Amino acid sequence: MKKTLIVIIVTLTIVGGIIGSLIMMNKTSSKAKVEKTENLEIAEKVTDDCIDEYNELETADVEETNSEEEKVSPNAIFTFEKYYKECEHTVKRYEEVPSNLVNSSKEDIEKKYDKWTIKEFSKEKIVLHQDLEGMCGEHYMLRDVEGKINIYKLDDDGNEELINETDIATEYLTQTDMIDIENGLIVYGKENLNQLLEDFE
Ligand SMILES: [Zn+2]
Repeated sequence: MKKTLIVIIVTLTIVGGIIGSLIMMNKTSSKAKVEKTENLEIAEKVTDDCIDEYNELETADVEETNSEEEKVSPNAIFTFEKYYKECEHTVKRYEEVPSNLVNSSKEDIEKKYDKWTIKEFSKEKIVLHQDLEGMCGEHYMLRDVEGKINIYKLDDDGNEELINETDIATEYLTQTDMIDIENGLIVYGKENLNQLLEDFE
């Protein structure tokens, strides 16, 4: 009897052990499965990104090819951009397309404006760019001379050249404007200058 009991107990322990380790194995493998799935998802995401980038590249290529084939339209606007290294100002000039350049290709424009870089080219809009040494030539100095505003142009060396003796009386300006002009007020750009003079009048 005792022997039988011992056999049964030993058998149960062994069976229990086997079942237990089977369950453990199962758990581990399902864990591994989850990890695997996650990895797969990451892999898919990465692939998606790659595809996106690839598509973008392709689109960019197509656009470039199109712009190369594009011809200047009769209502195109040319923008001439001059960047002055010393003062870091960019002066832009806009022009309607000269009639002899209608239907020109990007290459024709490159040849015609060989000192310029083509920054943008489409049939409606051509932007040409140039980097230049020195200052932009749109630096002005406003000074109070006998109660009136005088306008001077500043050159690269800071010399002042009188370009306009206005009738604008400084006595009617605000206190801060008056002090600015007494000290010599520097203004950049024709547009800013005209705006300021309008405000003072
Ligand atoms: Zn400038």
